[in-house]
Amino acid sequence: MRLTVLGGAGGYPPAGGACSGYLIEFAGYRLLVDPGYATVPRLLSIVDPDAIDAVLVSHGHPDHVADINPLLRARLMRDDASARLPAYALPDALGPVLALDQIRALAGACEVHAFAAGEAFPIGPFAIESRPLPHSIPNAGLRISAGGLSITYTGDAGPSDDLVDLAGGTDLLLAEATYVEAVPSGNDGVLNSALEVGRQARRAGAARLMLTHLLPGTDPAHSRTAASRTFSERIDVAAPGAIVDLS
Ligand SMILES: [Zn+2]
Repeated sequence: MRLTVLGGAGGYPPAGGACSGYLIEFAGYRLLVDPGYATVPRLLSIVDPDAIDAVLVSHGHPDHVADINPLLRARLMRDDASARLPAYALPDALGPVLALDQIRALAGACEVHAFAAGEAFPIGPFAIESRPLPHSIPNAGLRISAGGLSITYTGDAGPSDDLVDLAGGTDLLLAEATYVEAVPSGNDGVLNSALEVGRQARRAGAARLMLTHLLPGTDPAHSRTAASRTFSERIDVAAPGAIVDLS
């Protein structure tokens, strides 16, 4: 199973950067997880728009879904328009971004499959497990498994025992870590820190940890150092273009 990071910024894309976006491939199937702001130009530097087999979304904030719009446009605005793109998301998570566009055909470019956080379902060769994780809007933690390997992704989430359960023994925990050590009041309980997700990775017995969704301006080295105080296995910080081959 291969993970390619398209972006790892939280909130908004900084100069030259991109928000959450991850291409996960197995046996020739390409699953795009969270097409956040500015991820599609990076995606299209790797594959054609019609090479994406499905999209899976953690929650409806635009730094996680906005670029489904240019992806659908890229699939439509060509001589041989692509097939409908299956998009798996919580109910109503995609409604606002899909309503952005007045291209009449765009509505038919996407086939939305709503799931409830807590459900398990297949997407191509992948087995998906989900859990509701605490955030300011409904958010699904996702465990994506194939070939005996798994990536567990938090979307955006405050600390939760449900994440520890979902990520038990996972090969890679890809975890939102907007902040370094402490989550400011106001976002307490709905976003996370590198220090805390390290603790959750350790409790889950994750084989390795990748920090993502860092607030622009955060020094990745500070985040990695904070997580290393609570998690002793390998820690990386999501950067556009990073590739992880799990085996
Ligand atoms: Zn969010």
